[in-house]
Amino acid sequence: MTTQQPIIVQKFGGSSVADVAGIRRVAAHAVATRRAGKRVVVVVSAMGKTTDALISLAQEVTPTPDRRELDMLLTAGERIAMAILAMAIRDLGEPATSLTGSQCGIITNDAPGGARIVEVRPFRVQDALATGHIVIVAGFQGVSWKKEVTTLGRGGSDTTAVALAAALQAEACEIYSDVDGVYSADPHRVPEACRIHTLGHDEMLAMARAGAKVLGADAVAWARLHDVALYARATDGRPGETVVRLNPPADRPWIAAVTQRPSCVLLVWPGDVPELPAVLDTFAVSPILSLQLPGQTLLLVGRDVADAVDSQFARLVDRLRQLPDAFQHTPTVLDGTLVSIVGPGVGREPDLLTPFRRALAAHWTAQTPVMSHGLTLSCLLPAEQADAAVLALHAAFLGGVS
Ligand code: ADP
Ligand code: ASP
Ligand code: MG
Repeated sequence: MTTQQPIIVQKFGGSSVADVAGIRRVAAHAVATRRAGKRVVVVVSAMGKTTDALISLAQEVTPTPDRRELDMLLTAGERIAMAILAMAIRDLGEPATSLTGSQCGIITNDAPGGARIVEVRPFRVQDALATGHIVIVAGFQGVSWKKEVTTLGRGGSDTTAVALAAALQAEACEIYSDVDGVYSADPHRVPEACRIHTLGHDEMLAMARAGAKVLGADAVAWARLHDVALYARATDGRPGETVVRLNPPADRPWIAAVTQRPSCVLLVWPGDVPELPAVLDTFAVSPILSLQLPGQTLLLVGRDVADAVDSQFARLVDRLRQLPDAFQHTPTVLDGTLVSIVGPGVGREPDLLTPFRRALAAHWTAQTPVMSHGLTLSCLLPAEQADAAVLALHAAFLGGVS
């Protein structure tokens, strides 16, 4: 194995490694890539629903598990998967080494449960590749400067893969899942959805933030920052893929996709608050969106963030309440599913709101909150209406039966 051979990073999610048969398929895939002359790094998630099961286990013990200990527990899921996969690859006759996030030099900040990668020092990965090994990496985890084990937030294995691909200057970062690419809507919910061949990082990032979880938002943000091309493919070997890269073709549709993001909490204050970004920076809270509209300030977060045990969010809201003017009012708090259209046409096409509202006529009320931000036009709807709303928007903007 020479350092001239290109490095490929391949990431396989929980559904791809749910059982031993799945592990063997992934092992065969990695071995085939290695035998085609590549240096191979495989990032792996916990098997099947292991992470959910570990969270339930902790919650059986206490409804408010300590965040540090929860991270300790959850990282075990990926550790099991990496070791089993390394064994399966060795069984096929190729050398393989498994490494934890910490061993791979994935350095994060100190925010347990949703840590951010600040630096990647992949020396051990490079050493193992140099000796001809396929390197298996436990996704979704890192280590802080204080040597605490951290997790990167749900779906964080995608972020591990992209961060390693950037640090290793890999030729490609391939994200394998149960779908053969990124579609114009979740293909499991919208039968008319079509695979998108090429997307820009900006559009994919907007889609991921709006709920298209096929690629994690933090991973796409990292890919954009470090100019990593992403290839979304199916683990079962179906042909077809979506490429996410810099400078996608200019002739792509103005609306790329319809998305939904469940379990959102929207806080609405009357009035403009210029201090909001500065205050947000001082709390470890990652909002989906913070928006100043004329006469209104909006803050949208996931239900998990709003309910987090350490209550950073509650402290943030308290702090905002202490500011003068608008934040002395108690915010209106709304729960629901964020339903969005995403594409370069948002913000450029005049009056997209009219067809958006028309498509959602069956769900729209005078109180429906609507938000336009960058490439995304969204509204918050009751969870039980979201599937029908997505079908209606897809039919109106991308074709198909409503
Ligand atoms: P993994 O567990 O491998 O990380 P995920 O479940 O995170 O996989 O992502 C794959 C899922 O993303 C698909 O099963 C699909 O239901 C969902 N999905 C949501 N939106 C889209 C979209 N626009 N295109 C493709 N898949 C999508
Ligand atoms: N196992 C983690 C989760 O279920 C990370 C991942 O799958 O990317 O969220
Ligand atoms: Mg995922």
